Amino acid sequence: MATAQPVIGVLALQGDVREHLLTLAECDVLARPVRRPEELAEVDGIVIPGGESTTMSRLLEVFELLEPLRQRLADGLPAYGSCAGMIMLASKVLDGRPDQHPLGAVDMTVRRNAFGRQVDSFEADLDFAGVGPLHAVFIRAPWVESAGAGVEVLATVPESASAGEAAGRIVAVRQGSVLATAFHPELTGDGRVHRLFTEMVRRA
Ligand code: GLN
Repeated sequence: MATAQPVIGVLALQGDVREHLLTLAECDVLARPVRRPEELAEVDGIVIPGGESTTMSRLLEVFELLEPLRQRLADGLPAYGSCAGMIMLASKVLDGRPDQHPLGAVDMTVRRNAFGRQVDSFEADLDFAGVGPLHAVFIRAPWVESAGAGVEVLATVPESASAGEAAGRIVAVRQGSVLATAFHPELTGDGRVHRLFTEMVRRA
């Protein structure tokens, strides 16, 4: 007997939606774009892509998805956010915009464009807990400034000659069935972070 595949939505208002859908397609799940409340109601997990969190936040209101998404997250919907998605899932945003609405799914404060004060984009080799060594691409990325006691830190920027102020900063976290990374595994053809998330959805 075939086991039903979980349905994973990708919030498709803005950002690198296609890259997430393609990466999820390799994970033995049904991956679908989500733009309407009816589509959100049907998913077993949601991915919030990289892009621009201020724009996505505004579009959540325009598409009447802000409250339904907050409600589903509060009810325990598994979620994964990369970069802008990490910012959206936070409980507090530093250097955000006043009309930006944090979804509050992870008890953490993130700083928007945190690395941008030194360099816009960079790559680093991380040690990702439970996944292993991972090559990460950061694009105008946030970092996690602080996280609550219930938040598990999965990766930090390693110490290196070029890391500077970024060394030791938290760039991947998990709280219950919510996962967030400051970087973009959907852009590197490495499906391991998405597989971790889809396993979280299966177990939830
Ligand atoms: N800087 C963007 C923001 O504030 C995030 C960038 C990204 O997702 N690559 O939302």
